[in-house]
Amino acid sequence: MAVADSHAARSQKTDHLPEAVERRVADALAALSLEQKVRLLTGADFWSTHPEPAIGLRRMVVSDGPVGVRGERWDERDPSVCLPSPTALSATWDEALLERVGAVLASEARRKGVDVVLGPTVNLHRSPLGGRHFECFSEDPLLTGRIGAAYVRGLQAHGVGATPKHYVANDSETERFTVDVRVDLRTLRELYLAPFERIVTSAGPWLVMASYNAVNGVTLTESPLLESPLEDEWGFDGVVISDWTATRSTEAAGRAALDLAMPGPGGPWGEALVAAVRRGAVPEKAIDDKVRRLLRLAARVGALKDVAPAAPVPALLSGADVGRFAREAAAASMVLVRNQGDLLPLDAASLRRVAVIGPNAATGRIQGGGSASVHPHYAISPMDGLRAVLGRSANVVHAVGTRIHEGLVPVTGDQVVDPVTGQRGVHVRLLDAQGGVLHEEHREIGRLTFIGDQRANAAATIEVKGRFRAVEAGRYRFGVAGVGLYRLTAGGEVLFDEAVLPDKDDLAAALLAPPQRAAELSLAAGQEVDLALTHTVPAGTLAVAFSLGVEVPAPSDEQELVRAIELARSADVAVVVVGTTEAIESEGFDRTTLGLPGRQDELVSAIAAVNPRTIVLVNSGGPVIMPWSHEVAAVLLTWFPGQEFGAAVADVLLGEVEPGGRLPTTWPARAEDVPVLSTKPENGKLVYAEGLHIGYRAWARAGVSPAYPFGHGLGYTRWEIVDVEAPPRVAAGAAVEARVRVRNVGPRRGRHVIQLYLSRPDSEVERPVLWLAGFASVEAEPDQTVDVSITVEPRAFAHWAAGRWQVEPGVYTLHAGHSATVLTRQTAVHLND
Ligand code: BGC
Repeated sequence: MAVADSHAARSQKTDHLPEAVERRVADALAALSLEQKVRLLTGADFWSTHPEPAIGLRRMVVSDGPVGVRGERWDERDPSVCLPSPTALSATWDEALLERVGAVLASEARRKGVDVVLGPTVNLHRSPLGGRHFECFSEDPLLTGRIGAAYVRGLQAHGVGATPKHYVANDSETERFTVDVRVDLRTLRELYLAPFERIVTSAGPWLVMASYNAVNGVTLTESPLLESPLEDEWGFDGVVISDWTATRSTEAAGRAALDLAMPGPGGPWGEALVAAVRRGAVPEKAIDDKVRRLLRLAARVGALKDVAPAAPVPALLSGADVGRFAREAAAASMVLVRNQGDLLPLDAASLRRVAVIGPNAATGRIQGGGSASVHPHYAISPMDGLRAVLGRSANVVHAVGTRIHEGLVPVTGDQVVDPVTGQRGVHVRLLDAQGGVLHEEHREIGRLTFIGDQRANAAATIEVKGRFRAVEAGRYRFGVAGVGLYRLTAGGEVLFDEAVLPDKDDLAAALLAPPQRAAELSLAAGQEVDLALTHTVPAGTLAVAFSLGVEVPAPSDEQELVRAIELARSADVAVVVVGTTEAIESEGFDRTTLGLPGRQDELVSAIAAVNPRTIVLVNSGGPVIMPWSHEVAAVLLTWFPGQEFGAAVADVLLGEVEPGGRLPTTWPARAEDVPVLSTKPENGKLVYAEGLHIGYRAWARAGVSPAYPFGHGLGYTRWEIVDVEAPPRVAAGAAVEARVRVRNVGPRRGRHVIQLYLSRPDSEVERPVLWLAGFASVEAEPDQTVDVSITVEPRAFAHWAAGRWQVEPGVYTLHAGHSATVLTRQTAVHLND
């Protein structure tokens, strides 16, 4: 029978674990009843697996990921490090730095009792509209794979499991639970599977996450792709974990190579799977395969009694160490795309007055939205960072210029007092149906997230109280961001009592970027008002998330703009910080536009018109359109840079360090130029009709110039590629060792990323115009020439055809360049038959 045959093929052996450990795993497996085994295959709750004391197995905790480790609690009481967003990290093109990212995250995981990090996200930047674009590394599979592998190595070398996700072709969010991605096998192999392949074969991740979507008609948690190529070709011996609620069947998923259904404790497995095995619909061997993999994971992370973990448990890093690293990584990821007249780096001694302007200047946006978000310990804004460095010698002034209108923002301890304890913040009570108090606590902010929290799930209502104090007279809006039944009172008077319906068709979006309801109140300066928000918890819920929010009175955009222009006019330099927010770039939905929200474009042009020394910092996770880029002196792309945003900005602007980043994704000048833009499925299907041609490959094919090409980025010195050499003839299937001679022709020491691309104009098979084939970084002093060797792996020459990798013999052109469009030297490589 096909089912049984396919299970005979599931790999039972691993090259990676010692014999003795495999024996211990086999003995443990043999000691379990069918019920015990099946119980292990669904989560015990939202973030952990079941323990099984009979075999010395403790529970294992998993956590998002990927820029920090959130832990089991999703709020301000358990803060986490927040590193630069994954796109930022890949902009470093620095695998050694990514290994250190892994080490830092492993330390965070250990601090929080977490065994497995749910990352890295290695889907591709197919369209810049993708909601999780910020959470993915790059539009290129080689860069994604190398950066992702380094991340995995760093984590696992310190004893914490990594989970490359989401396998596979989960590259946008629209209809993400159901979308059927139609993609040909060659494209799947050469683009979307390629990062997973590299990571699995070179870094051996202990888990892989199966995505929500379907590929070519089969949902991934039931897909044959879990077995082949993941396990049989690539030798993956770890756990395939479902994305949250992605397991949709008992039998099909039970027979497939899916091992762990998350979250629990409910779901389609459990007793139903036991029954399916009993009636022969799922072979017990399939269950054993799953449990064996789960036990291997337990052995690796040290969750199986008497088995030493796969890697030594490291000492925890201090908060200061982690902060220093976050700062270094952020600066290393920032991409300087424009620097007219070498305005940057600034000479601090010559600055008397610095205007720091923009909606993201004093409120830096450090991360994107969704399950990837963490509560940081702190966030240094560009304003804070520049003031800290320049504050003594210069007058650093600030104006917001224009606002990104977000509506309500959760109340903070600066605004409200807990009426019960008198502390800054709010008072929260979980009440039963009779109004009896099940639990109460003080909280610092008005944003509450109870995910998999038994007490909150059991409550009939949750009540949040805070005494709000108006700093200035004006019209305030108070309300809720959340889905469900809410009642808000102010001073005992009902402001609203109604049901708030979801505005997006996505559970995560309803929890993480929910709709808002608000009512207006006019308050005098110093006036206090008692706010009480009550939420009726739906029976049987697993997750509750809402916030008590406020929108404070603000001057009109016209007034803000006039003030900003005045400040900029008289400043030695104007730093304008524009961007998006975590509510705009988030899991759960795709962006609808690449434009900067609100009147930010107008703000930049207005500032540039009065100050020729205008520097724009773009604080977004993915590309935005910058119609003003030629009006300003300098543009620095900062991404979502993590908690050390402002400190890293100061380091870069003042030349303490070079902006180290090179674009891992093409930055368009106009949305209509983007070769692959729409993420909207039609009739439930999203057709990857462009095939192999995404990102810079597609731009080259279209013959259109982007604003800034893939690979581009300026430092504070200049580079010349003197020469590229490679053996002119090599055997097909062999690696090519290229040597690139590079010279620092600028004024200071620096680092540069040398990129190799291949092309084959006379190819018999269809190919991209060019494709990244290797890269390496160089460092040199002014006038110094260095040689760098770059290996072009055999795979770079291969294409997928007729069910296997094939190499077309003949001539390939190897280009050495500074980006995908500035290729300055080339050589021919002849592949012999
Ligand atoms: C996301 C995953 C995440 C999981 C757990 C899902 O909605 O797609 O990336 O790991 O939730 O938070």
